[in-house]
Amino acid sequence: MIAHNTPVWDDDPAWVPLAPLDGDAHCDICVIGLGGSGLVAVRDLRAHSVDVIGVDAVDVGAGAAGRNGGLLLAGLADFHHDAVRALGHDAAVSSYRRTLAELDAIFAEFPDCTRRTGSLRIAASDAERADCRAQLAQLQADGFPAEWYRGAEGEGLLIPSDGVTQPLRRVRALARAALAEGARLHGSTPVREVHGTSVVTAHGTIRCRRVIVAVDGRLEALLPELAPRVRTARLQMLATAPSPECRIPRPVYWRDGFEYWQQLPDGSIALGGFRDSGMEHEWTHDDTPSVSIQQRLETFLREKVGARSAITHRWAASVAYTLTGAPISEQVRDGVFAIGAYSGTGNVVGALCAHDAVTWAQHG
Ligand SMILES: Cc1cc2nc3c(=O)[nH]c(=O)nc-3n(C[C@H](O)[C@H](O)[C@H](O)COP(=O)(O)OP(=O)(O)OC[C@H]3O[C@@H](n4cnc5c(N)ncnc54)[C@H](O)[C@@H]3O)c2cc1C
Repeated sequence: MIAHNTPVWDDDPAWVPLAPLDGDAHCDICVIGLGGSGLVAVRDLRAHSVDVIGVDAVDVGAGAAGRNGGLLLAGLADFHHDAVRALGHDAAVSSYRRTLAELDAIFAEFPDCTRRTGSLRIAASDAERADCRAQLAQLQADGFPAEWYRGAEGEGLLIPSDGVTQPLRRVRALARAALAEGARLHGSTPVREVHGTSVVTAHGTIRCRRVIVAVDGRLEALLPELAPRVRTARLQMLATAPSPECRIPRPVYWRDGFEYWQQLPDGSIALGGFRDSGMEHEWTHDDTPSVSIQQRLETFLREKVGARSAITHRWAASVAYTLTGAPISEQVRDGVFAIGAYSGTGNVVGALCAHDAVTWAQHG
């Protein structure tokens, strides 16, 4: 039987969902959203003994952070040479450098649910092969690790500093550590409104000095002033039973990153993509899988990836995109800082934005 809208990562029966908020509360800083970004913020705040409450509409990792492809990639959503064009050389290099340092920290902190395998960007066309060459030239000119690759997957770039994670395990580990450090975390607590620095939830109001909104998909629903710059899309994935016929030592992203896959330690394959083939239908707040995208993923799985084993999981989740490709990481109202809209690549950048939000909350 196929697990419907459950990610392959949800494999820990010992996990106990967080209890809801129980009435009004006070704290110094409230973090909304307990994905990877919100939990890194909570963790950093507790490291400074800040009185913090974190709330989530559902539970830890219920959004994209626990339902993604698990690729840990250096750089922003744009490939490095595109980021240089869009942001300017110094800003792009500095961002790339920060993500490399964050990757080092993630691999060191989570040895049980990460693997530094490197990653492959494989070209789907001659034009993309030329673009891979341009990306390689820029990375090497700036002294970042990258090499040309030709192998069973095709031709393109190998980035040795990248790797993979079991994303839900990572965010649950962050939550367990935050709870052990005294953070107050609540699930099943949807925030209806942020009013000044009061966080109005379904179960009570949290009064605090500062609010960090750490929501990727549907960010513009909670903070409507961001709607002109932020748009939510649905991304979809599937996973298979162990596929010994495949040997995929590194995660692959293909066709400018629209498709991406990794082979898990037990041999199963997790594959995502084809958002663009759904056109306007995928710009939606609905986060359930659709038949048409799932069929495309299945065809690709059989014809390109070469996996023959049964499909065990199909799922989807929401992420937000910006027009520029640069994430939102800014004070949006007095006392309210928003991080999110990572344009499909938030496992590493989300942690960086969380550090920035914490710096603002303490010193800004
Ligand atoms: C299918 C898929 C594949 C992806 N693959 C990759 C990848 O391989 N590598 C990569 O780097 N990135 C990938 N991404 C993007 C990445 O998953 C996200 O950018 C990142 O996980 C965002 O984490 P976050 O903590 O910022 O936000 P989220 O994970 O979206 O967490 C936000 C939390 O806020 C909660 N929330 C939302 N609204 C409210 C509210 N009103 N009140 C209270 N709580 C609320 C949600 O329940 C959720 O738990 C992928 C995303 C998807 C969907």
